[in-house]
Amino acid sequence: MSDVAALEVRDLHKYFGSHEVLKGISLTANKGDVISLVGSSGSGKSTFLRCINLLETPSSGSVALHGELIRMKSLRSGERVAEDMRQVERIRSRLAMVFQSFNLWSHMTIMQNIIEVPIQVLKVPRAEAIAKAEHLLNRVGLWERRDYYPGHLSGGQQQRAAIARALAVDPEVMLFDEPTSALDPELVGEVLGVMRELAEEGRTMLVVTHEMAFARDVSNQVLFLHQGKVEEEGNPKEIFAHPKSERFKQFISSIY
Ligand code: ADP
Ligand code: MG
Repeated sequence: MSDVAALEVRDLHKYFGSHEVLKGISLTANKGDVISLVGSSGSGKSTFLRCINLLETPSSGSVALHGELIRMKSLRSGERVAEDMRQVERIRSRLAMVFQSFNLWSHMTIMQNIIEVPIQVLKVPRAEAIAKAEHLLNRVGLWERRDYYPGHLSGGQQQRAAIARALAVDPEVMLFDEPTSALDPELVGEVLGVMRELAEEGRTMLVVTHEMAFARDVSNQVLFLHQGKVEEEGNPKEIFAHPKSERFKQFISSIY
């Protein structure tokens, strides 16, 4: 076992103009960790995930994937940017993000959605990419729907397809941003079921969620964000049973 963390975030700050949205967030995800990020709307959860895969550039602090530090530099304007876009592309191909709104390509079938990045970016031979996609479609229960367009699937099916697409790149860390929030209540379970299986097979996952049962039962660490800071964190069984901060207590009671 290597003792290098799968993902290590140190003292991450993010400003939008003069508004400090993230005020020094640190997190260590070891291989196989499932970390839930919870908190009210506007607390910075999405921005934090977006800083990890460089959809936003952190204003300060560091992000490292398996010990590889993402290099950043400051422009004369003071804006901070990634130093090497090739490194960013490479790091991104080792992460996978699943969004609230699925973000499938609507003009492509489910199969095409899944094989696109493996073929175009990772240069996997087409037959191999298709074989793997079929395996993944089976896993998420969508093999029969492989030639459908996203618009002809339910939200739950689209999100399961998005998870299959994320898995197609063999990500080292999976980032989920409220993957069930846009779903009708009766479709939430099928997506959480797939995520639970991923957790059980030892995937490293960061999950922004309002599903407290998932956070409590599936993750091994929970971070509660409040106004851009980690207000409380710990083992879910402990912190849900014995929340320390008033804000976390209020949050829990507001959500159940
Ligand atoms: P959450 O996901 O917890 O709801 P967000 O990370 O989306 O929170 O937003 C945190 C804060 O950052 C909010 O006040 C939001 O308005 C602000 N924010 C997010 N993205 C941007 C942006 N691109 N430009 C300016 N402000 C932003
Ligand atoms: Mg959000």
